[in-house]
Amino acid sequence: MVVEMKSKATPEQVQAVVDRAHALGFGTQLNLGTNKIVVAILGSDTGRVPTDIFAVMPGVESVKRIMKPYKLAARDFRPEPTVISYRGLEIGGRYSVVMAGPCSVESVEQMLLTAHAVREAGACVLRGGAYKPRTSPFSFQGLGELGLDILAEVKRRTGMPVITEVMDPRHLEAVAEVADFLQVGARNMQNYPLLRELGHCGKPVVLKRGLSATVEEWLEAADYLLAEGNDQVILCERGIRTFETSTRFTLDVGAIAVVKRNSHLPVLADPSHAAGHYELVPALARAALAAGADGLLIEVHPNPVQALSDGLQSLTFSDFRRLMGELKSTAEAIGRPLLTAQAIAGGAS
Ligand code: PEP
Ligand code: MN
Repeated sequence: MVVEMKSKATPEQVQAVVDRAHALGFGTQLNLGTNKIVVAILGSDTGRVPTDIFAVMPGVESVKRIMKPYKLAARDFRPEPTVISYRGLEIGGRYSVVMAGPCSVESVEQMLLTAHAVREAGACVLRGGAYKPRTSPFSFQGLGELGLDILAEVKRRTGMPVITEVMDPRHLEAVAEVADFLQVGARNMQNYPLLRELGHCGKPVVLKRGLSATVEEWLEAADYLLAEGNDQVILCERGIRTFETSTRFTLDVGAIAVVKRNSHLPVLADPSHAAGHYELVPALARAALAAGADGLLIEVHPNPVQALSDGLQSLTFSDFRRLMGELKSTAEAIGRPLLTAQAIAGGAS
């Protein structure tokens, strides 16, 4: 249930609503919107109380039940879009952003070369996994702590913000020390203890959609982060399992539109894991931006043939440069120009 306060409601009136909800055994979350406050009344059985209990209170504008299974991620709770601002970078705002880099961190040299190449081409965040969720235990599992050290060094030397995956709550502290954005991989979308921990890590979290998760389940997973108080949640559509095998996963372009309609959270798309093949990445990247994605997460490697993971879907530097040129046109055509690293440095946002 959400209680929308009048724009002139006093802090005492808001507090009275919160107190009444707590007295009834419910939790609350506040959306301090631009001109009015919305109080979400949270609990498994909010249906047992009539909305009038809150509607009659002074300062209350309206009360409505959120009929969707997700609550805090819903536009009913927060009608205005969430914009994540980070060191001049804005995700979910006027601009489209591109995060790029290899699937796995392999060496300082590999990451430095990639950082310079992708930044030159316009990407504003460097990606690279230190802990890798591989389908087989016999595949390369990532460099772990060494990978984090490499990311820290490359960040120090280039000044580029980094995104990397956290797979295990036990690694969270170490990963959060280096990462500017924490990635929850598709396989961990429903790892609720991990999500709860990330709910108070104080960093933006990119929550990838599970391989077989519905949009509702994905947004309910986002609620775990939001309920713990982390409002810096970014979704990422990375393709789902379908009967179709000609791409690695099926990029659910429709889900991007659904999320933009039903949720206030920004959404990225990862065309690389969906495509599974470098030749297919550009088309999916363009389609995702055109469908309303706020940005892209793209795998790029200095030498894809030698990559320790996901080489087939990784773009070379020159492929990536070409794609960024195409994306610039797509982004401008839809009125969401690319926010490049150069523009951030020049203070464009
Ligand atoms: C990745 O980003 O390298 C990755 C493992 O992605 P996903 O969790 O979407 O499979
Ligand atoms: Mn990968």
